[in-house]
Amino acid sequence: MAGIQRFRDFVIALTRLAEAGAPEAAWLEKGRALLAELVRHDDWLPASCAEAGPTYRQYLLHCDPLERFSVVSFVWGPGQRTPVHNHTVWGLVGMLRGEEVSTEMRPGAPAPSCDGARCPMIAGRVDRLRPGEVVAVSPNLSDIHVVENALPDAASISIHVYGANIGAVRRSVFDPATGAERLFVSGYSNAAVPNLWDRSAEAA
Ligand code: FE
Repeated sequence: MAGIQRFRDFVIALTRLAEAGAPEAAWLEKGRALLAELVRHDDWLPASCAEAGPTYRQYLLHCDPLERFSVVSFVWGPGQRTPVHNHTVWGLVGMLRGEEVSTEMRPGAPAPSCDGARCPMIAGRVDRLRPGEVVAVSPNLSDIHVVENALPDAASISIHVYGANIGAVRRSVFDPATGAERLFVSGYSNAAVPNLWDRSAEAA
């Protein structure tokens, strides 16, 4: 099995989880296993959702009609990175192609050297993701991070699943130098989503 059929089966399995009313823990366990299986294969992502741009790209691959989950491809060109940001919902990140580095960030503790609330943020755990690997984010785990392409000379692509229509979620970006928080609604880089539902090639 190759091509969009693989991704369609993934979407169907996620929809079944949503229909079963899966709590976050079940998404992080069963959804994680499904995503790990998906990113073990790099033969299904449409080329239109794998193109790098002048800044990192966030392509919507599928959004559940009831916005219980969404699936996105993130594409980083060489040297590209996200701002420091949160999610406010659970998320799963599976590496498909290349490598990325995710660095956990947390608010700096107020110190005499800080000017009121303007404290530098503190970097925490660093995850370097290679193809096939999956990590989770959640407000219940660690929700603030910065992600960057680990490769200096090639694009890297990861597939993300979130517990909402992530492009529409009101969340935040942070200035790492001061911890200052700003409202952020990411949207998506694409105007059209991949067609998962043309089964004519399989029928032929
Ligand atoms: Fe993120």
